[in-house]
Amino acid sequence: MASERTLSIIKPDATKRNLTGAIIDRFERRGLRIVAQKRLRLTTEQAERFYAVHAERPFYRSLVRFMTSGPVVVQVLEGPDAIAVNREVMGATDPAKAAPGTISKDFAESIEANSVHGSDSAETAAQEIAFFFSALEIDP
Ligand code: ATP
Ligand code: MG
Repeated sequence: MASERTLSIIKPDATKRNLTGAIIDRFERRGLRIVAQKRLRLTTEQAERFYAVHAERPFYRSLVRFMTSGPVVVQVLEGPDAIAVNREVMGATDPAKAAPGTISKDFAESIEANSVHGSDSAETAAQEIAFFFSALEIDP
């Protein structure tokens, strides 16, 4: 298993409910290492750009509104198979379909306010990491 990096976002529903530490704990317990991290508030333009792939989906406007409704924590997670391991820890996008012990099952409020984002492939991970971080901001 090669070491990988993936982008993780702790979404506004979770930062509002003071769940940042509880969620980070799930990643660290599974061996994912945080090599970059910051808290910020996305502008509408930034959220639109980040989710541009979903621009034609019916939930796009609502998703952009939600993602700008409060602070997010963006982080780069590193470890063997990090992209897949992160998605496993996160659980299914829809909390109603998520397995026990996953972040989605334990913390998400709805399919939209689902507490976390994780890159879905190596290509997206590279793009999403570059969207938020410069090389200087990542622990080499
Ligand atoms: P995938 O592996 O298909 O990329 P994902 O978990 O990354 O799955 P997306 O389908 O890419 O989810 O959707 C991105 C985000 O949009 C989700 O994390 C969620 O916040 C929101 N979302 C997805 N589907 C819906 C929906 N049907 N209604 C409202 N919001 C949604
Ligand atoms: Mg996705």
